[in-house]
Amino acid sequence: MKIVMLGAPGAGKGTQAQMIADKYNIPHISTGDIFRFNIKNGTALGKEAKSYMDEGKLVPDELTVRMLLDRVSDEDCRDGYILDGFPRTIPQAYALTGELGKTGDKIDFAIDVDVPDENIVRRMGGRRACQSCGSTYHVEYAKPRQEGVCDRCGGKLVLRDDDKPETVSRRLEVYHEQTQPLIDYYKKANVLHSVDGTCDINVVFADIVKILEG
Ligand code: ADP
Ligand code: ADP
Ligand code: ZN
Repeated sequence: MKIVMLGAPGAGKGTQAQMIADKYNIPHISTGDIFRFNIKNGTALGKEAKSYMDEGKLVPDELTVRMLLDRVSDEDCRDGYILDGFPRTIPQAYALTGELGKTGDKIDFAIDVDVPDENIVRRMGGRRACQSCGSTYHVEYAKPRQEGVCDRCGGKLVLRDDDKPETVSRRLEVYHEQTQPLIDYYKKANVLHSVDGTCDINVVFADIVKILEG
């Protein structure tokens, strides 16, 4: 099962992707997490990505596509995976479709988590992310068991630099310009499904499970 999560920044893609990955035992691949891991470790890729991310812009396609295709070629991706934050542009979608097509393969489900911009701005201020494993929490809607500490790995929870309000509005603009057209792309491929992302986390999850299990 190969799944793509679509939706604005803060729509809940990461939250849902992790729950799906746990339920179906497939890898959760977040391009944002891979970039942040590289930044933390001071790699060349991290250095290049950081300037774009800090400004709320997208990392160039060439770099992102190479990194993602490399990751999905790993052994643990053989029986499927869930992509969270990729593709984010039409050229990225083409690259993925093209690569999968080489072996007669394709994306089975593209799930659009729909949340209006007004809700997003409010959500992002409360998001806290684990510095170690990337899991996300919310100060009100998805509290960790212990304040400031990741349930999954014990890592420290922080407010991401790019979750400050100025950067969030830039990211939303970029989303509408470059990423929203993917909804149509996957609609044409007959794999698009939408869920109402303003509902409670567990309600959204139940809706997605219904889609995946037909
Ligand atoms: P969110 O979960 O809030 O949507 P992400 O963690 O997915 O944020 O992404 C953070 C940043 O990483 C993006 O603003 C962008 O700069 C970069 N990024 C992540 N995925 C991609 C991608 N597929 N293409 C280009 N840039 C990306
Ligand atoms: P994305 O990966 O799309 O950027 P996240 O999964 O990181 O989004 O969610 C953004 C923030 O909103 C996080 O703080 C998360 O805990 C919270 N959140 C996710 N889904 C919901 C929901 N259905 N209702 C309320 N808050 C949510
Ligand atoms: Zn963690």
